[in-house]
Amino acid sequence: MKCPYCGFAQDRVVDSRESKEADSIRRRRECERCNKRFTTYERIDEIPYMVVKKDGRHERFDRQKILNGLLQACQKRNVSAAQMQAIVDATESFVVDSPERERQTSAIGELIMERLKDLDTVAYIRFASVYRDFKDVREFKAELEQLLGGKEGRRSTKG
Ligand SMILES: [Zn+2]
Repeated sequence: MKCPYCGFAQDRVVDSRESKEADSIRRRRECERCNKRFTTYERIDEIPYMVVKKDGRHERFDRQKILNGLLQACQKRNVSAAQMQAIVDATESFVVDSPERERQTSAIGELIMERLKDLDTVAYIRFASVYRDFKDVREFKAELEQLLGGKEGRRSTKG
């Protein structure tokens, strides 16, 4: 499996685990050139994992789409490729663990936002502003203020 960091094709499997429902195998791999670790999932191709959009449309779960969204949000931010990879893995696990084989995109978005919030505020805000329909500027401002610890408006006036 080609290393996502350096493109090298040789790796070794350091951990191999079957999912709860025994329908996929998660493998931790280590690149033999750069020694970075990444995860692959092996499963029967016929089983679809779906995401359900707000308007009810179903779409096949796509790791690359999740990663693209993250790359955009994390552009020039202090979030490493490995951290993004970990979020994508968590997202996939979340979808794969669903008994219905599908998850609402809103739930997936919340999961990603939770993770990003811990890593990088700017990346979080970028992702949230694309992902959530902030009904108006006020809603977005409230979100920001909550993030910044509600400093605004509590400023003490002196002298
Ligand atoms: Zn590598």
